[in-house]
Amino acid sequence: MSVSYWRNRDRYFRIIGSVCNSCNYESFPNFYKCKKCNSEDISDKQMPHKGKLISYTLSSESMPGFEKELPMSIGLIRLDNNVNIVAQIVDSDIDDIKINANVKAVFRKISSDGDSGQIYYGYKFKIIKNVKK
Ligand SMILES: [Zn+2]
Repeated sequence: MSVSYWRNRDRYFRIIGSVCNSCNYESFPNFYKCKKCNSEDISDKQMPHKGKLISYTLSSESMPGFEKELPMSIGLIRLDNNVNIVAQIVDSDIDDIKINANVKAVFRKISSDGDSGQIYYGYKFKIIKNVKK
């Protein structure tokens, strides 16, 4: 593992957005100037890892490097703090991918750099099936 991996690993396993310290506006990805009040008093903030699927698209065309993951579903997710995020939906039955389904973030290897051995991770989301009561 490279030094930079360990230095940055906290970021790989979190979804870091920003919060405005003046008006509490939250957004992802990070911003440096608040869209609501123009404040530049901004802090990093970890976004919740749960939310709901509000829209999605199934694609049978692949981006380079993702050929094994077809059909690929890309979801628009509203996190529990009302921030929207676009992410791939993984580990889920196509039948379970529905509007308003509950989802949670998972972190997956995206690619590895053969020379340095560095592995890159990123967030994806999976459907949480309704728990039977
Ligand atoms: Zn603000």
